[in-house]
Amino acid sequence: MFESISKRLRESRKIVFVTGAGISQESGIPTFRGKDGLWRSNDVMKLATIDAFNDNPKLVWEWYNERRKNVFSAEPNLGHKAITELEKYSKVVVLTQNIDGLHQKAGSSQVLELHGSIVKIKCTVCNYKGETFTEFLDIPPLCACGNILRPEVVWFGEGLPQDLWQEAIVHANSCDVMVIAGTSLVVSPANTLPIYAKQNNAILVEINPDETIMTSNMDLSIRSTSAIALPELVSIFKQ
Ligand code: NAD
Repeated sequence: MFESISKRLRESRKIVFVTGAGISQESGIPTFRGKDGLWRSNDVMKLATIDAFNDNPKLVWEWYNERRKNVFSAEPNLGHKAITELEKYSKVVVLTQNIDGLHQKAGSSQVLELHGSIVKIKCTVCNYKGETFTEFLDIPPLCACGNILRPEVVWFGEGLPQDLWQEAIVHANSCDVMVIAGTSLVVSPANTLPIYAKQNNAILVEINPDETIMTSNMDLSIRSTSAIALPELVSIFKQ
């Protein structure tokens, strides 16, 4: 599957993974787009935006409570684990749009959560930030200051923390190989990371059962799931 680029892969000193919801699909967490994606059953634009939260925080928190339950019971799959195993052979950095923490649970040591984390919460008014692994019984949950707490995730229309984004660009711009797994590459600015990698002449590998809007820019597109393709990629390093 990877024959055409196996030499470049084996020689690579730094591999950056750009991952999205699809890499966790085989852990039982639905994607937003693609087959069986959440878009199909929910109007995510009515839920994952700051306007939706301001209009109806209870509704948005109900949705996040469900997602939190799903994430807390999920385990990393062979795709997440393969990325962790690759650390034995090369420097590996994961730039993920996911908020599920499964890369860390699989043992990846350098993960930048570009869109935040579903276990993190913050106050909408004061500076309080925290982490919680239980379901909220009273929603919307309140901060000790009396104001509403929100998930510490980046919603559609919100900017990424600038220091985190700058760090992501530095990694993208200094890798030999970028593997883009399980993302539709429609969410900005994460979808510009392959452009930074190309500035460093990195090779771009896409792993996705479906084509994406950037397929034509890839050096290699693997039409497979990440739990199948990523262990195969790691096997190249063992040859
Ligand atoms: P997306 O839903 O837009 O796209 C998912 C992509 O994954 C699609 O291109 C689909 O074809 C592909 N895919 C589906 N199953 C796959 C598999 N088994 N292996 C490999 N690829 C597979 O997701 P996105 O690009 O990450 O962007 C949407 C936003 O969704 C992000 O901001 C992210 O925070 C959020 N999100 C995160 C989670 C999570 O944390 N697990 C879940 C849903 C949505």
